[in-house]
Amino acid sequence: MPNTRKRPAYNRLRQADWLLWRLASEHHCCFCGDLLMKGFDKKKLNITVHHLEGSIHTDNRSEAAPVDSQLFAHCACHKAYHQMERLAARGKNIDIGRFDRMEANVLREVNRINFSKKFYK
Ligand SMILES: [Zn+2]
Ligand SMILES: [Zn+2]
Repeated sequence: MPNTRKRPAYNRLRQADWLLWRLASEHHCCFCGDLLMKGFDKKKLNITVHHLEGSIHTDNRSEAAPVDSQLFAHCACHKAYHQMERLAARGKNIDIGRFDRMEANVLREVNRINFSKKFYK
């Protein structure tokens, strides 16, 4: 008997993959500034969301947080950013140049979102 019950789940997954691919081909990582598509791996799902509002250790994962305070990022860049943030908070040496570039990219992404909001409201 053919496995017909798995079909809807498979179709949903395929659609989710497609949507993700679409998103990754258009949005940039808020830390490195590259397209999310760069290094994108749908099997690893290596893109994530950085929350501007929230604790540096836990991120604010509240669904109620405004969408424009949530920025897309590569998982690796996101991890590196928060790691540097934690190290700096403990007075350890970090690559301050890289950290500054990341912060500048985040700011640029926020400005870009605010700028486009003016035209779509
Ligand atoms: Zn990145
Ligand atoms: Zn974050």
